[in-house]
Formats: sequence, structure tokens, C-alpha cells
Amino acid sequence: MDDNSCGNLLDHLSDYLDGEASAAICAEIEQHLQECEDCRVVVDTLRQTIHLYHTLTQPDIPDDFRQRLYKSLDLEPYLER
Ligand SMILES: [Zn+2]
Repeated sequence: MDDNSCGNLLDHLSDYLDGEASAAICAEIEQHLQECEDCRVVVDTLRQTIHLYHTLTQPDIPDDFRQRLYKSLDLEPYLER
């Protein structure tokens, strides 16, 4: 990552949120987030979505309830996983 542009950050964002980005990339992303409110909003939103996704895949949630919830949240692609 040679610069701190928003597009560059977004390229690495999925790795970052999955915990798979290198330490150097994480540091650059976190630095960019401190300086760029737009990207902070994006990352916060994605984090909440991912957290919700992990919460919803807990086995004690009934399938039909989960499917209805995913539909209402427009997260149906995740049902395939
Ligand atoms: Zn940015």
C-alpha cells in the first residue's frame, strides 16, 4: 500500500475485516481511518454487518427465523454460505 487513498483502503478492506491483512496494512488502514471520516463510516457499517452475520449464524437461531431476518436485511447472499 503506497498511499492512503480511499480506493486503496477499500481494496484491502475485506482482508482487514477478516483479520487476514498483514500488520503493516492494518496499521495503514487504521491510520487512514483516523484521518478519513468517510472510510470510518464505511468500516463501521461493514463491521456491524459482519458482526450481525456471525450472530445470525449461531446454531440456536431457527432456520426460518434466520431466513426471514436475512431477507429483511437484504443479506440473502450470505445464506448460501
Ligand atoms: Zn478514506
